[in-house]
Amino acid sequence: MDKLTKILTMTLVLLLLVTIAFPSSLVSAASGVTFTKTTYQTTDLLNLRSSDSVSSKKLTTIPKKTSLTSNYRIGDWYLVTHNGKTGYVLGQYLTKVVSGTAFAKTAYQTTDALSLRQDASTSSVRLLTIPVKTTVTSSFRDGNWYKVTYNNKTGFVSGAYLKKVTASSTAYTTTERLNFRTAPTTSGALLMTIPSNQVVQSLSVSSNWHKISYGGKTGYVMGTYLKKETASPTVPTAGTADYSGSKMYVLIDAGSTVALRASASVLSGQITRLGRGTPVVVTNNLHKTRGFLAVQTADGRRGYVEATYLTLFQPSPANRPLIVLDPGHGAYDPGAVRAGLAERDIVLSVARQVAGLLAGKVDLTLTRYTNDYYPSLGDRSAMANALSTSRFVSIHINASNGTSASGAESYYYKGTTSVQLAQAIQQRLTGYAGMRDRGVHFANYAVIRGTQAPAVLAELGFLSNASDRAKLADPAYQARYAQAIADGILATL
Ligand SMILES: [Zn+2]
Repeated sequence: MDKLTKILTMTLVLLLLVTIAFPSSLVSAASGVTFTKTTYQTTDLLNLRSSDSVSSKKLTTIPKKTSLTSNYRIGDWYLVTHNGKTGYVLGQYLTKVVSGTAFAKTAYQTTDALSLRQDASTSSVRLLTIPVKTTVTSSFRDGNWYKVTYNNKTGFVSGAYLKKVTASSTAYTTTERLNFRTAPTTSGALLMTIPSNQVVQSLSVSSNWHKISYGGKTGYVMGTYLKKETASPTVPTAGTADYSGSKMYVLIDAGSTVALRASASVLSGQITRLGRGTPVVVTNNLHKTRGFLAVQTADGRRGYVEATYLTLFQPSPANRPLIVLDPGHGAYDPGAVRAGLAERDIVLSVARQVAGLLAGKVDLTLTRYTNDYYPSLGDRSAMANALSTSRFVSIHINASNGTSASGAESYYYKGTTSVQLAQAIQQRLTGYAGMRDRGVHFANYAVIRGTQAPAVLAELGFLSNASDRAKLADPAYQARYAQAIADGILATL
C-alpha cells in the first residue's frame, strides 16, 4: 500500500469504528436507544443498510433465519453486524430468540434483597427490589437468571440469591379449623377452611400471619392456630416412580375417543383418536392428573394424550363401574408426619393395593400414581368429573397434637350413596383392622364437595397415636385397610 491508500484505509477503519461506537452522532439525527444485547432471528430476506433509512445504501442482503445480535436501535432500525458488515435492518423482520429453559414450577425464597430486572442481565433495567425472605415461584430460567413475578411485575432475578423452598423447612400442624385467607388480615377473602391436624408449610411470617401453601393455593393464616412440627424434624423424601416405559390404557366411555395430539396442548393438531382401552407406552413423563403424557401407540405413532384419560389398569371393552381412588397429599405436601412416617406415602401404598384388589372387577384410575406429584384438590375432582365415575374415595390419615386420639372415621358431603359408601367403608375399617370407630360424618372437604360422583374421604387412623401408627406402618395392616376399602366400594355398587 502506498501512503495515501494507507491513510485512506485508516480513515475508513476509524470512521467505521466511530460509526459503531457512536452511531447516532454520525448516521442519523434521530436519537437512538441502547438496550440489553439481544439475539434476534431474521424472518425474511433482509437488507442491511448503511443508516436508518430505506433510501440509504444497501450494504448486503441477509438471508432468512439468520441470527443477529443488537443492543442499539434508532426507531425501528436495529444496528447489527453481519459477515463483517455493520449497518441497520428493519425490526419488523426480526423476532426475538428466546433462550432459556422451562421447568416445573418451583418455590424459592430470596436469601437477600434482590433486584428484579427486565431482562436476564445485570445491565438490564431494575424494575424493583424484592425483600429478603420473600417466596417467589419460577418455571423458566435463562442461565442462572430466573423469571419471576413480584408485585405484578415480571422480570428476572439472579439464581445466586434464591433458595429452593423445601418441604421440611418450616412445617406446622394446624391445631384447629383455620381460616385460610388471601391477605394477612381478618378482612382478607377466605380461600378455604383448613381442617385441624393438617401439616402446612410456612413460607414466611409477619405480625403473626404466616404465608403458607395449602391445597395448591398460597395465602395467609394466623399463627395462633399453628404448632411447629416437632415430633419428626425430618420429613421423609417422597419416593418417585417414573412411569416412562409403562403401558397405560385409554380410559373413556365405550364408543368415545380421546385425541392423540401433536404436542402437549389441547390446541394442537390431532394425529388420530384413540378408543377406550387402547394401550399406549409412556415415553417420557410421569403420570400427572392434569397435563399431557407423551406416548407411543402400538402402531408406532407418537404424540400426547391428556393424563386424565390414561390409567394403569386395563378397562373392560364395555363400561363397568369406574372407581377413582385418591391418595391424599403428595410431593411437597406430606400430610401428617410422625416418627419418620408420612401420610402421603402410606395412603399411596394403600390406594395401590385397593386398585390391585378391585382390578378385573371394575374400571379404575388413581388421581396420582406417584409420590412426587401433588394434584390440587380441584384437579382431583376435575379428573373424576371428566370421567363417568361411579365412586370416588379419597384416602387419608389423621393426626392430632396429643397422642390419645385414635381410630378411623369416614366423611361424606352429599347424597345417600355417599353416606352408604362411607358407612360400608367405615364398618370394614373398624372390623378388618380393629380400628376404634369414630363414626361417619358430614364434612365440607373440597375434594368430596367438588366431585359429582358419590364421594367419601376415609381417615384410616391417627399417625399421632402409637397403637394406630404401628398398624398404619405395618404392611399386613395396610393390606387390611385396602381390603376394607375395596370391599366397602363393592358393597355399594
Ligand atoms: Zn390427609
